[in-house]
Amino acid sequence: MPTVWVLGAGQLGAMLKQAAYPLALRVEPVEPESEQLPAIKDGDIITVEREQWPDTAVTRHMSQQSGFMNADIFGKIADRFHQKTMLDTLGINTAPWRSVEVDTQAESLHAALGPDVLLKRREGGYDGKGQFWLYQNQGLDVPSDWLGTGIAEKKIPFNEELSLVGARDKDGNKVFYPLTLNLHRNGILMASLAPLARVDHLQGKAESMLGKIMDAADYVGVMAMECFRVGEELIVNELAPRVHNSGHWTQAGACVSQFEMHLRAVSSLPIKAPEVRGQSVMINVIGVERETNWLKIPSTQCYWYGKDVRPGRKLGHININHPKKSAVQTALNELRHLLPENYGDVFDWVKEELAKL
Ligand code: AMP
Repeated sequence: MPTVWVLGAGQLGAMLKQAAYPLALRVEPVEPESEQLPAIKDGDIITVEREQWPDTAVTRHMSQQSGFMNADIFGKIADRFHQKTMLDTLGINTAPWRSVEVDTQAESLHAALGPDVLLKRREGGYDGKGQFWLYQNQGLDVPSDWLGTGIAEKKIPFNEELSLVGARDKDGNKVFYPLTLNLHRNGILMASLAPLARVDHLQGKAESMLGKIMDAADYVGVMAMECFRVGEELIVNELAPRVHNSGHWTQAGACVSQFEMHLRAVSSLPIKAPEVRGQSVMINVIGVERETNWLKIPSTQCYWYGKDVRPGRKLGHININHPKKSAVQTALNELRHLLPENYGDVFDWVKEELAKL
């Protein structure tokens, strides 16, 4: 079997490596700043676990290989200008937007997009970083460091945030996980919940949107599409051409996780529609010290990424899965006591959403 090299050696690379074991695949995450070039052989596969990467000897070497998958798509998706242009060209609903040029005035953005406009950096923004709200009632100008570096989006008064994770193989076969409900705080994903019967009627629409995007890009592997739900409409917020945090619940709640699905697709192994089991909830561990007692809670899987603790940093996640909603709620009640008080609103949200199922 060929080796699958992963550009990036963060938690996504580590979880890809973990998922490779039952497939007897060799997966090697590579740190872009590493001094040593990976020993890539003919026939090996190169995939990516991060949106952007620095220009280093390692990243240049990896991206020049013939086995570098989806080479054309990363530049297009990593730059919001190109990503939004691609969505518009495909006729896929996305928040109305304008490019922020060197001479763009706040007035013209408000005229086109309304009183509340969200500036987003063209490149490098993630987890809510690289955003700036421009409110007309504050009479602000476009800050000078945003000129020529961003796009501006209309504020979407969304009901909730849903994401779809799907995979496509080389022959164009596609499979999808059920729509996932996500809670963000300050732009950072805090919790996900899936499946939700109440959004089943949107599943077909979501699949045809992401399917169209993956087909147009001739994409191979897992891709995530983050959406706003506004009534019965889905509006794409952003695309992630890789395994995604909102798909972490699939480790506990699907017969094939998003990590294994990605590896199957990129290494030309069969992909199959993932059977989903029970109810899943994923809680992200953000800026919180590791707590051994998490391991005692029934119906959970704990992932700890081994990173230094810093405020606002994703350090791990906890998947809760059980066929019975009541058992998921019991696990959540126990976990609530083992996470800081500022998680209270996250647990309240999950409880409320579970009750609606
Ligand atoms: P992003 O970095 O694009 O994923 O945005 C982070 C979060 O900011 C999203 O999950 C939303 O909660 C919020 N957000 C992004 N774009 C918009 C928008 N156009 N209107 C309202 N909220 C938004």
